Amino acid sequence: MKVDIRDIPAEGLQLDIAVEESELHAIAGEVVFLILSPVAANLTLLKSDGEVFVRGDMASALKLQCARCLKEFEYKISSHIDIVYARGAEYAIKEKKLTQAEAGINHLEGHEIDINSVLLEQLSLDVPMQPVCRPDCRGLCHRCGADLNQGQCGCSAPEQANQRFARLKTFSSTRSN
Ligand SMILES: [Zn+2]
Ligand SMILES: [Zn+2]
Repeated sequence: MKVDIRDIPAEGLQLDIAVEESELHAIAGEVVFLILSPVAANLTLLKSDGEVFVRGDMASALKLQCARCLKEFEYKISSHIDIVYARGAEYAIKEKKLTQAEAGINHLEGHEIDINSVLLEQLSLDVPMQPVCRPDCRGLCHRCGADLNQGQCGCSAPEQANQRFARLKTFSSTRSN
């Protein structure tokens, strides 16, 4: 959906929306995630003479691939949105004596804010660089490729035992100091 900033009243505009996955996929282009549920957002739009503020919360779920065991899993997103748009490039530079990049301000072209783009951008920011299906995912054996969440494979067993022994030794030497 798009909001014409001329329609934002002085007291602000409240949006309580649920955007279908398909609408966001349509504008997403090449992204590495699949959106699994409608993106629910609760936003407040406020405007001053020179700026428009978009603030609120959003929630959805994505399908990601675990960086350790390579399984696909559902990743819940719950995120805060806080964006400032400058109405005209001159404002940010002349009034605040800052470049757009320094100010962290988005330049608003025309009168419309595309809320779907705002939501999609926030989703992209929320995707972790190394997603894991669960914090204690044990991943795949680097020798035989077995999923170590299903149990130990033969080849990693001695290595594991050694590691445990090493940790125990560190522990006892720390204690004695
Ligand atoms: Zn995993
Ligand atoms: Zn193995």
